[in-house]
Amino acid sequence: MSKEKIILTGDRPTGRLHIGHYVGSLKRRVELQDAGDYSKMFVFIADAQALTDNIDNPEKVRQNVIEVALDYLACGLDPTKATIFIQSQIPELCELSFYFMDLVTVSRLQRNPTVKTEIQMRNFETSIPVGFFTYPISQAADITAFRATTVPVGEDQEPMLEQAREIVRRFNYIYGETLVEPEILLPDNAACLRLPGTDGKAKMSKSLGNCIYLSESADEIQKKIMSMYTDPGHLRVQDPGKIEGNTVFTYLDAFCRPEHFELYLPDYPNLAELKAHYQRGGLGDVKVKRFLNAIMQEMLEPIRNRRKEFSKDIPAVYEMLKNGCDVARAAAADTLSDVKKAMKINYFDDAELIAEQVKRFAGQE
Ligand code: ATP
Ligand code: MG
Repeated sequence: MSKEKIILTGDRPTGRLHIGHYVGSLKRRVELQDAGDYSKMFVFIADAQALTDNIDNPEKVRQNVIEVALDYLACGLDPTKATIFIQSQIPELCELSFYFMDLVTVSRLQRNPTVKTEIQMRNFETSIPVGFFTYPISQAADITAFRATTVPVGEDQEPMLEQAREIVRRFNYIYGETLVEPEILLPDNAACLRLPGTDGKAKMSKSLGNCIYLSESADEIQKKIMSMYTDPGHLRVQDPGKIEGNTVFTYLDAFCRPEHFELYLPDYPNLAELKAHYQRGGLGDVKVKRFLNAIMQEMLEPIRNRRKEFSKDIPAVYEMLKNGCDVARAAAADTLSDVKKAMKINYFDDAELIAEQVKRFAGQE
């Protein structure tokens, strides 16, 4: 097997993308893409996976495919450098998933922490769609189909990657070295591993309605920031405030760079001093939120503007996706062919098999 570096990631088209996606994965993808230090990069819109918990609302998924594609382009993903495609258009992924299902037990899936949390979050209780329950398997198919070596994702995806690695190891153990074992690539900055929602909840998530979207207007961004969760015990400006669990400071950890102080808050030399003042007391939430707002506006304005430009030619965006699907399909078909060969279910391409059977039946005469 070759040692080339192949990158793969995707997002569910359950809404527009938000700043959690940006710091958790999207920003990294664009950096990797521009560094050019890889041989192939695949980025996909996981519509089939989104349907596993939205089967009664396919229209939501359909509408959001183009929204996610626009977010990708707006953030700088470049279809000449990365293959951008739609999951459902690659039937080979279903085929791979079907075989992978035999390599995983029900109890192993039940122990997967991401599956557990997501089932709870969606209040499925005992009515869990089988497709949703098995989505870590389909995710393993998505990753291995493209022989991905590197998967840049947020921390919530760690158990998914572990599950994929187990599937690869088991497949290769039974059938011989065929699949590539992927590595997770997490954000370096701890605040970006799992960005909290504006309500202070553990994860900014489309499904929880606590997001700042990449495409949000300047006014909406400001409104959301000014009403963000901080320290509920910090009632008066002179009171000492808490930094831990204070979402505004978590966002500053994620987004603030040293030069932002000189630009937007020259009274403070750096983030450590700002935090110290807040903890001592005497620094109001509004001042910190205004600073965060300036930083977010600076980051999101160019993304919003580029999105507007790309949205002027929607047919071109669909065309780009279609081309991506063609390239992705060929790559997945290649892997599937190796898989079938390893499993010896490639009956018509196996000349030895036919010769063997001819001999066996001749012996019965
Ligand atoms: P849904 O609620 O529909 O699952 P989501 O907001 O969790 O949507 P996904 O499409 O599941 O988004 O995730 C896409 C990618 O973004 C994954 O790599 C995931 O790890 C990352 N990601 C999502 N939310 C965050 C977050 N709050 N912080 C860091 N990374 C995140
Ligand atoms: Mg998710």
